[in-house]
Amino acid sequence: GVGSDSGEGGRRSPGGSGGESTKQDAKSGKEPIHWHSRGVAARALHLSRGVEKPSGRVTYIVVLEGLCRFSVEELNARGSYHVARVSRLDMTKTELEQAEQDPDLIALSRQFKATAMELISVLEQKQKTVGRTKVLLETVPVYRLADIFVASFEISFEEQLAMLDSVDLKVRLSKATELVDRHLQSILVAEKITQKVEGQLSKSQKEFLLRQQMRAIKDELGDNDDDEDDIAALERKMQNAGMPANIWKHAQRELRRLRKMQPQQPGYSSSRAYLELIADLPWQKVSEERELDLRAAKESLDRDHYGLTKVKQRIIEYLAVRKLKPDARGPVLCFVGPPGVGKTSLATSIAKALNRKFIRISLGGVKDEADIRGHRRTYIGSMPGRLIDGLKRVSVNNPVMLLDEIDKTGSDVRGDPASALLEVLDPEQNKTFNDHYLNVPFDLSKVVFVATANRMQPIPPALLDRMEVIELPGYTPEEKLKIAMKHLLPRVLEQHGLSSAYLQIPEAVVKLIIERYTREAGVRNLERNLAALARAAAVKVAELDSTLRLGKEMQPITTTLLDSRLADGGEVEMEVIPMGQDISNTYENPSPMIVDEAMLEKVLGPPRFDDREAADRVSSPGVSVGLVWTSFGGEVQFVEATAMAGKGDLHLTGQLGDVIKESAQLALTWVRARSADLNLSPTSDINILESRDIHIHFPAGAVPKDGPSAGVTLVTSLVSLFSNRKVRADTAMTGEMTLRGLVLPVGGVKDKVLAAHRYGIKRVILPERNLKDLAEIPAPILAGIEILLVKRIEEVLGHAFENGFPLRLHSSL
Ligand code: ADP
Repeated sequence: GVGSDSGEGGRRSPGGSGGESTKQDAKSGKEPIHWHSRGVAARALHLSRGVEKPSGRVTYIVVLEGLCRFSVEELNARGSYHVARVSRLDMTKTELEQAEQDPDLIALSRQFKATAMELISVLEQKQKTVGRTKVLLETVPVYRLADIFVASFEISFEEQLAMLDSVDLKVRLSKATELVDRHLQSILVAEKITQKVEGQLSKSQKEFLLRQQMRAIKDELGDNDDDEDDIAALERKMQNAGMPANIWKHAQRELRRLRKMQPQQPGYSSSRAYLELIADLPWQKVSEERELDLRAAKESLDRDHYGLTKVKQRIIEYLAVRKLKPDARGPVLCFVGPPGVGKTSLATSIAKALNRKFIRISLGGVKDEADIRGHRRTYIGSMPGRLIDGLKRVSVNNPVMLLDEIDKTGSDVRGDPASALLEVLDPEQNKTFNDHYLNVPFDLSKVVFVATANRMQPIPPALLDRMEVIELPGYTPEEKLKIAMKHLLPRVLEQHGLSSAYLQIPEAVVKLIIERYTREAGVRNLERNLAALARAAAVKVAELDSTLRLGKEMQPITTTLLDSRLADGGEVEMEVIPMGQDISNTYENPSPMIVDEAMLEKVLGPPRFDDREAADRVSSPGVSVGLVWTSFGGEVQFVEATAMAGKGDLHLTGQLGDVIKESAQLALTWVRARSADLNLSPTSDINILESRDIHIHFPAGAVPKDGPSAGVTLVTSLVSLFSNRKVRADTAMTGEMTLRGLVLPVGGVKDKVLAAHRYGIKRVILPERNLKDLAEIPAPILAGIEILLVKRIEEVLGHAFENGFPLRLHSSL
């Protein structure tokens, strides 16, 4: 039915004909009709025609507005319809106003309103659409309300008639109150029943129902993304992850939590990411370890690495032990050496030999324990540590894991990463490695750990204790040349889709690259420079390619591809070339590009280093050539001293540590004390610092430097400054000095001598007690360098200057 908006509240909208209180049979019309003696006068507001049914029947809907009750006085049939004389039953306005004063009626209407209100609020809880009814309650006269309310219930026809007959207001109100109350009670009872039934549903059934409802609601709102299915997929993944039973339980709990959450809810995505991690972790997955073939392993090591005989031997031993006792908890191998000497590449070879996956975990700059162990999930944006993350990435639990730059982890307020690593490397503890984020133990005992470090010294002793250190000191230029020709060049060419048919870099040119463009212990920059040449050549070849008009079918196979496959010794897939094409043109090799010095300069720029560098830099007094040891291997370190007007202060620059600063103080003190003996002043009581400041600088000002080994270099530099004599450009030195002028041994001698060799330095001054270290230096290098062993600083000065340095021997100690 449809209500009218007219102020005349009462409305009835039955289908078919008439709002009159009749009882008739529309179908036959033959049966005697019982007319009720009372009815409702109504005004037709609207007639609408319904859709025609297949049977041909059409339904009409008439909207009527009730006006008042009436009683039938006289009824006559007139043809097909009836006519009646009626009299109005409802009271007039004035009569009503009088009746409303009746206290009984007031009480009754109050009672009715209260019951009606109660009904409304119950309905309101169920559906939110009763707002309009509430408004009616306040604005419509109560006797009319009674009619309206009752009309909206499904009550029997007899009851409807009884309502119609209730002309008396009191009777009508009490009857309506009764009906409203009955309706209210039935709703309440129905509710109780459903509650009971729901209570009896099992939890899972209920969850199912609710989820069904939620999905329906989401559908309705149009935001039904496939989260549900996603979560089902996640659960499947979790089931297949093969996690231990207790962890599975834990994960299930988390999954249930996730299920209850809305995707927009704060914890949802973090909870989800967590479960994804658990599902992704390789709880069971391993790479199949096949029978270890030591000979094959050795061959593969030899194939991939030039030289390094001792290192390779040690790796083979390590593998042999593993072969004999696969569960043996051997020490963790730790490759120590400057960058680019092949540490990473050796570790990958170990993985290959063991037929395991390889993963590199970079520890450089890790200061926070959480980097290794993860953050607790209570943190916003918390993540698992690098180890767990790495395992997720390799997705097997027995990879070879390279802990790269283990010496670069420092400890500070945020915890001690080294102690976390200690746990990782301890076979007793790593069975139940606890990542804070993961929060359940993970077994790391199947992982084969290998570590790398640039230097041994910063590694905490406890950690060092668990590892077996294998040192890789760096290569001589000759070794680098061999590595470049045999390994780097072929690889670089292949990476750029080139072959020797396109680009050739003669040995002499590679040598130039080593000498003029790189000055490093390893071969990383060498490889980079070769790559730069290959890139330049690739551009040329690509240009050339496009000028050759190739048939469409020819495009996929290029000579490059063909050649590199041939070079690999692999099989070549030949492409059938349609007849009639000019084959020779397609496959004709352009003559290979041969890199010469000119091209070198064009691609790599002007030489970055040359042998004259040292000579240029020591061209004025006050500069000396030292040798230092850095994490990049040995380095040549110039020391510059200068004097200026001042008050005898010492200024030091070049990012110096405390130890090196003290060395500088010491050097100045020694030179001042010995100024007369060194012929720097006529007598020893003259202050050579009189009215001047000294400034000492260690170039490469941005690189931090420290250590005592610059002592002799500092003295030499100061003596050169005060005596106004130039230091020999072909001589470098290293050594710690005591206040009394003794020269003490230093570390890293091998690396330092190699660095000197790279710089083209011909003479190296070393502390005598470092003699034993010379055994490690390759013979070809030693052959090209004069080693000068010294015990005292005076000897250093004697070697450092052209024609020696004259001392007044009578006053020497
Ligand atoms: P690191 O880990 O010590 O910094 P890498 O293992 O990354 O050095 O080596 C840098 C590059 O030099 C790699 O391409 C590596 O294969 C190559 N390389 C280093 N040493 C050798 C060697 N002895 N023989 C062949 N290639 C080498």
